[in-house]
Amino acid sequence: MPELPEVETVVQQLASVLPGKVVATEELIDLDIVGRRIERIYRKQKIIVVELTGEVVLLVHLKMTGQLIYEDKNKKQKDRVVGGHPTSDWVGSLPSKHTRAIISFKDGSKLFFNDQRKFGWLRLMDKSDWEKKVSALPPDVVDVGFTLAYLTNVLAKSSRAVKLVILDQAKMGGMGNIYANDALNIAKIHPKTPSNQLKTDAVKRLYAAMIRVIEAGISAGGASYSHFVGIEGQGGTYQDQFVVYDREGKACFNCGGVIKKISLGGRGTYFCPNCQLQ
Ligand SMILES: [Zn+2]
Repeated sequence: MPELPEVETVVQQLASVLPGKVVATEELIDLDIVGRRIERIYRKQKIIVVELTGEVVLLVHLKMTGQLIYEDKNKKQKDRVVGGHPTSDWVGSLPSKHTRAIISFKDGSKLFFNDQRKFGWLRLMDKSDWEKKVSALPPDVVDVGFTLAYLTNVLAKSSRAVKLVILDQAKMGGMGNIYANDALNIAKIHPKTPSNQLKTDAVKRLYAAMIRVIEAGISAGGASYSHFVGIEGQGGTYQDQFVVYDREGKACFNCGGVIKKISLGGRGTYFCPNCQLQ
C-alpha cells in the first residue's frame, strides 16, 4: 500500500505534466470525462484528485497495487511519470494485462491506470460534493490544520495504543505503518503506550517526529518498498533511511539497543525496548 509520501510524489510529478490537457478518449472505463480539460491535481489523504472542467473531480485511489503511468506522445521511457506499486509495468510496454483504464489526451499523451489486484479505483464526483466531503475529513499530518494542539487533543481523548491512534485515518490522515513506526522510535515512545498517558513532552517529541519522517519520505520520493525496488532508478528511496521499520534484530539509532518486532492491530510493529519505554 503506498503511503502519503508515495502518493504525494506521484501527484507532484503529474502536476507538472497534466494541467491543461484535454481528454480525447477514455478506454476500459466510462466516466464521462471526454472533452474535459484538467485544471489542477492535488492529494487529499491517499486520494489523488484531478479537477476537471465542468465542476467535476476525478478521484483515484491506488490501494494495494494501483499504478499511474503517464506517457507523452513520443513514448520515450525516460519521459514517463510513474507512481504507485513498483512493478515491471513501470518500464514495460503499455497497455499491459494489468491496465484497467487508459485516458488519452488531445496532444497524444496518455495516462494509464494499472492494478494487479483490482482494489484501486477511479471515480467521478461533482466538485461541490467532493468539497463537502473533504471539509468533514480530519487534517492530513502535512496540512496546516495539523497542529501540536490538534494532536494533543486527539491523543488525550483515547486510551488506545498510541500507534493505533496515529494510524487512525478518521483522526488524522496520512500516517502509514512505515512512518508511524519510525516516528515513535525517534520520539522514544513505546507503540503500545495508551495515548492519553503520554506526557506533554512526549507529545511534543511525537509531533516533531511525525512531521520529520513524512517530510523525509516526501523528499525521498516515498519508499519503493517491494521486490521491484529501484526499477530503472525511478522509485523513491526512503527505504534507505528506515529508522526502525523492517530492521528487526538491528541496532537502534538512538541507543544501540536491539530492535524488536511485534504485531499490533495486525500490523508489523518495530521498536527498541531499550529506549522506547511504556
Ligand atoms: Zn533505542
